[in-house]
Amino acid sequence: MRSVEEFVREEVAREEVALPSAQGEAEHPALALANSAVALPGGHTADLLGTPAQAEQWLTQRDLAPAGTGLAEVCATQLRSLREQVRSLLASRVADRPAPPAAVAAINDAMTRVPTASLLLWDEKTGPYRATPHPTTAIVDHALAVIATDAADLLTSADAARLTACASPPCNRFLLKHGRRQWCSTRCGDRARAARAYARRTATE
Ligand SMILES: [Zn+2]
Repeated sequence: MRSVEEFVREEVAREEVALPSAQGEAEHPALALANSAVALPGGHTADLLGTPAQAEQWLTQRDLAPAGTGLAEVCATQLRSLREQVRSLLASRVADRPAPPAAVAAINDAMTRVPTASLLLWDEKTGPYRATPHPTTAIVDHALAVIATDAADLLTSADAARLTACASPPCNRFLLKHGRRQWCSTRCGDRARAARAYARRTATE
């Protein structure tokens, strides 16, 4: 039988699946990564990278990993860690304040760590040979590099001027603004409008 926690987690996950992508996520995997743990009303968070299987699905949906990669928890942790660094950089850009040096370093590290050559290995019996690093590690490193590169591109491109944080609490997503819209989704817009209407009503009563 499912526990209450499991039930809530599944409900929250279902709600998250129904949440459309924020503006800009399709072009920017870094923005999609930043938005992959969504704060929902009621104090819940829907984490699309909550388990290695979910993280793998997230990567394959964006063509960042082939199906059946077999992601391990350590790989999912790397993705979640990069997410925090990307979020920190986006928040700094939106607030127009200097970024934490550790976040900048993490992006540069992810961009440059990706191996470009198969390694030279030496077997005691059969001698030297070339081999690519552990395939799963190589796939994950490559995905991290693509996302980090996109984050660097996003922050330094003309798109950066359109970067904003969703203005509908408790939502924590970022988006690229189109016109005056400050919300990541119509659902957040509806919630913000309902909150404003409620505030007006209680003020006049
Ligand atoms: Zn939102």
